[in-house]
Amino acid sequence: MKAALSQLIRSLNVRGWSPATSTNYSFIDEHQQIWVSKSGVNKADFTDSDFMTIDKDGIGTGMFHGVKPSDETQIHLWIYKHFTDAKVVLHSHSKFPVLISQFNEDYFPVQGYELQKGFKGCKSHLESLQIPIVDNQQDMQLLCAALDQRIQDIQHHCFIIAEHGTYAWGENLFEAQRHLETLDYLCECEFLR
Ligand SMILES: [Zn+2]
Repeated sequence: MKAALSQLIRSLNVRGWSPATSTNYSFIDEHQQIWVSKSGVNKADFTDSDFMTIDKDGIGTGMFHGVKPSDETQIHLWIYKHFTDAKVVLHSHSKFPVLISQFNEDYFPVQGYELQKGFKGCKSHLESLQIPIVDNQQDMQLLCAALDQRIQDIQHHCFIIAEHGTYAWGENLFEAQRHLETLDYLCECEFLR
């Protein structure tokens, strides 16, 4: 997992989805251990050794005791707590979801796109989907409280944080990447339209 996710992190950086050391990524391994990307690493150079282990409160464990992960680790933990099928969580600072959030409040509405079937469970381009948009917060307790309020609206393994970016997840890396890319593509199409 570490090698495959590191490679994905570098390739997303090439696409401009993680400028200036931003974004964070995590996965749960076969021993139910949560691994998260270390804070402050240039994602162009991200390697297997740039992950750290954390406990369920987001505190560094084992050889990473005393290492502080990104504050946004709390969002990863919120996703794992509430979506128990999630095993990989990806975060993006790509531009189109940020732009879309400037023209939509509360929801990003999607209908008519073949690619919306990239969301697990979506069978037709005719389905009307609504991707939640939550307000950005620097206080992660407030952000997680806002997510608590919207939990029923989160139906497609992703959400947008306004003028910030996206989170997407899946049962495995393949599915998490598909959800992240599906959302980004839909944001790009709607914004350019
Ligand atoms: Zn972020």
